[in-house]
Amino acid sequence: MTEENRRIGIMGGTFDPIHNGHLLAADEAHAAFGLSEVIFVPTGQPPHKTNQRVTSAEDRYMMTEFATVGCPYFKVSRVEIDRVGSSYTIDTLRTLRTMPEYAGVEFYFITGLDAVLDIVSWKNPEEIMDMCKFVAVSRYGYTHKRMEELPSELRSRIIPLEIPLLAISSTELRERIKNGRSIRFMVPSAVEQFIRKKSLYKN
Ligand code: ATP
Ligand code: MG
Repeated sequence: MTEENRRIGIMGGTFDPIHNGHLLAADEAHAAFGLSEVIFVPTGQPPHKTNQRVTSAEDRYMMTEFATVGCPYFKVSRVEIDRVGSSYTIDTLRTLRTMPEYAGVEFYFITGLDAVLDIVSWKNPEEIMDMCKFVAVSRYGYTHKRMEELPSELRSRIIPLEIPLLAISSTELRERIKNGRSIRFMVPSAVEQFIRKKSLYKN
């Protein structure tokens, strides 16, 4: 494959903590679209989560590194956590676009259906679609039919991708840890160990 038609996935998220649902979504998109790599981009300050407590960017970054280290085509980017202020997808795409290693590549932005249904509240959604292929992966509790709720000019540009449903969310993982329940087999074991070592999500 030449540089010109190299396809690269981008998986953005708060990753608080990263879990097997994120990894599966990225891996399914990798296979479905022939991506040469998937870049995980942990958010700095998530604009839609300003009224909730978020684990430090460095700890979320570390968990993302631990979770992806065993997969040769998974990468992690610090673009959002090194940027001051809110993290917007459009700014991330613009930054990645200027990086020499991504010159001429085609970006596939991978998002769960829950987040896609919220896309009208994102900054510059039309411009985001201009800069990448926008993929909506299935998420437990949502069906692709619900994309009909979106304005047609956005909906027509979103590529739906059916993936096996893993009913795991970071919110539920945080609750389970708080209540002393196991998260084994829901996150990679290195992530579980990091959470335990740093006593994250205990209260
Ligand atoms: P929270 O409950 O804190 O919102 P989350 O599990 O939704 O956490 P995020 O970091 O918010 O995780 O999600 C990052 C991206 O991954 C979003 O596009 C989201 O839709 C997608 N995603 C999260 N969990 C899954 C899953 N189990 N299956 C498919 N996509 C997922
Ligand atoms: Mg979420």
